[in-house]
Amino acid sequence: MICCLGLIKDTRCREQDKLLKQLSIPMARSTPDGFTEKEIDYYSRQIVLRNFGLEGQRKLKNAKVCVVGAGGLGSSILTQLTSMGVGTIRVVDRDIVEISNLQRQHLYGVHVVGYPKVEAAEMRLKQLNPFIEIEPVPLSVTPGNVERIIQGTDVVVDGLDSMTPRYALNRACQKQGVPYVFGAVIMQMGNASTLIPGETACLECFQGNLDDAELPSCSVLGVHPSIISLLASIQVSETIKILLGEPPVLANQLLFADLKDLSVEKISLAKVESCPVCGSKPLKKPRPLHDSNFEEVCGRENRRVFVFSPDEHQNLDMKEVNQRIRSLGHNISVQGKMGTTFSKDVVKGSILVSGVTIIEGVSDKTEAKKLRDSLLKD
Ligand SMILES: [Zn+2]
Repeated sequence: MICCLGLIKDTRCREQDKLLKQLSIPMARSTPDGFTEKEIDYYSRQIVLRNFGLEGQRKLKNAKVCVVGAGGLGSSILTQLTSMGVGTIRVVDRDIVEISNLQRQHLYGVHVVGYPKVEAAEMRLKQLNPFIEIEPVPLSVTPGNVERIIQGTDVVVDGLDSMTPRYALNRACQKQGVPYVFGAVIMQMGNASTLIPGETACLECFQGNLDDAELPSCSVLGVHPSIISLLASIQVSETIKILLGEPPVLANQLLFADLKDLSVEKISLAKVESCPVCGSKPLKKPRPLHDSNFEEVCGRENRRVFVFSPDEHQNLDMKEVNQRIRSLGHNISVQGKMGTTFSKDVVKGSILVSGVTIIEGVSDKTEAKKLRDSLLKD
């Protein structure tokens, strides 16, 4: 007989039965410690894990985690944290689902192309686990809003693809004492580290002063979905350790993984006392971060893309916005709860309820700004 783990009978299954009895998990009637029977059933395969138990599951239920970026890493991180039962998950992203995302961003399907990622993510994650809360935040992380974005959370998990918002997150996490699980991927490689304020190196102790304009991007060099899943899983494992009160493995360690030869290496890190962000004897002030409220991002097929990102959620009346979009002769292709995608000739755009506006196919920044102003009447 083969047990549920696919192992040959006896020890493991008997061990599991014993643990289930110890936990007194009632599969029929009562609801121990705030869990419903369905929740117990849902999480049963991790409750029986030795380092978990009902107590561990309760820690996850009471936790609030902020996942910044709902792209490749974010998709996998969010799926795992949701199905493991982290009680509240804040999802921060300002993008729209595009068809070129689907190769690696497995939260989304073709039916949600054109929707704000946080809206599509919320729909999917609630289907996956109705026992937790999702807090969608349709904003970019900027130096001006980062402290509010991470406020009240127990861990921040990095699903970003550029350094400036990572530095903003690093500084806000240091200031608020929130652990930051860093992760980054490109091509077939990735790295990760767990940054605990006051205890370990911060991001700017070992990867400060990188300029996004000089770094390669996934849209140019590409990225393999397998490295994303691998790194995201490592980030989730670290996050869960923190929530369970266990020491994270990547504290003061920087992990490098490469699919090419399946090598995984760790190098030791140390807090740098002269670090401008976390050091006790900083040699200089932290480098000012460019607050990119209106920027040009990587476009496709030589089409220029401009993004306006307000610091504050503007809570737009989307009914009014949609009327204005139509009155200016644009066709609406997607009308979501948190954003609308439209087009007219070669120009394409999206406006999110937060005020984030993405304009594609115009010739320059001035034209992008003019179109945004006409649509929102600033
Ligand atoms: Zn530092």
